[in-house]
Amino acid sequence: MAGRLNSKVAIITGAGSGIGRESAILFAQEGACVVCADINETAVQATVDKVISQSTAPTLTGKPTAVAVVCNVAQEDQVRALVDRAVAEYGRLDIMFNNAGIMHPQDNDAMTTDESVWDTTMAINVKGVWWGCKYGIAAMRRTGGGSVINTASFVAVMGAATPQLAYTASKGAVLAMTRELAMVHARENIRVNALCPGPLRTPLLMDFLDTPAKKERRLVHLPMGRFGEAVEQAKAALFLASDDASYITGTDFMVDGGLSAAYVTAE
Ligand code: NAD
Repeated sequence: MAGRLNSKVAIITGAGSGIGRESAILFAQEGACVVCADINETAVQATVDKVISQSTAPTLTGKPTAVAVVCNVAQEDQVRALVDRAVAEYGRLDIMFNNAGIMHPQDNDAMTTDESVWDTTMAINVKGVWWGCKYGIAAMRRTGGGSVINTASFVAVMGAATPQLAYTASKGAVLAMTRELAMVHARENIRVNALCPGPLRTPLLMDFLDTPAKKERRLVHLPMGRFGEAVEQAKAALFLASDDASYITGTDFMVDGGLSAAYVTAE
C-alpha cells in the first residue's frame, strides 16, 4: 500500500531521533517530501541522509526527497522560518507533525521541580507545538487544508507515581490545545490530532530510565511486557497524516500497547 502520501509535503520536528526520524523515513517511503527539523544539526542531517538513501518513491521534479532545517521549536521566529522554508522548497504544506519534545532530567514532583525546569519544558513542549500550529495552519489555509499531528503522551491521560510534573502538565496542555484547534479549523479541511505514545525504547525515555530498576518499575505495568518502538508510532502518525484518516480530528490517538486499558497485567 505504498504511496499513501504521494505529492504531499510534510514538516516533522524532532526529526533527528526516535519517532521523528522513523516518521521521516516512512513518510518519504509513502511518497511525501519531508522537511526534517531539529535543534541538533548533526542528527537531523543524518536523518535526511537515511531518508534519501531509503526512499524509492518518486518526488516532485528536481527536488530532493528530504531537506534538513536546524530549528529550535521554542523560538517563534525559527518556526516561522521553518514553515517558510518548506513552502519555498516544495510549494505547499500538507502535513505538520509537531513532534519535538523533551523530558528534563531534573523534572520531579511539585516540591522539588525547579521553576527553570518547568519553563524550559513548557517552552519546548507547549509553545513549540503552538508555534508549529500557528504557522503550519496558516500555510495549509493557503492551499485548502491539511493534517496537523501533535505529539502528546499517555501521561496526559493517566496518573503516574513516578513524577515528572512539568512534562506531564505540558502534555496535558498539548491534548487540550489540539482539541480546541481541531474544532476551530474543522470546516477549513484542516484536521488536528494528538498522538499519545506509550513508553518507548527511544533516547528520550531510556536516558531518563538509566538503571535496570527504573526500567523494571515501568515494565511490570506494560501489558505487552515491553517498551514500544519509535517505528510503531511512525506508522500511527502516517495514518493520521494520510487521507485514510479523513474523518478523524480532535482525537487523543493512543498508541500505548494497551497501557491505558490496564488494571492488572498478565504475569
Ligand atoms: P527523542 O529524544 O528520541 O527525539 C526527540 C528529538 O527532538 C531529538 O532529536 C531532539 O534533538 C529534538 N529536540 C529536542 N528539543 C528540541 C527543540 N527545542 N527544537 C527542536 N528539536 C528539539 O524522543 P522521542 O521518544 O522520539 O520523542 C518524540 C516525542 O514523543 C516527544 O514529544 C516526546 O515527549 C513524545 N513521547 C515520547 C515517549 C517515549 O517514551 N519516548 C512517550 C510519550 C511521548
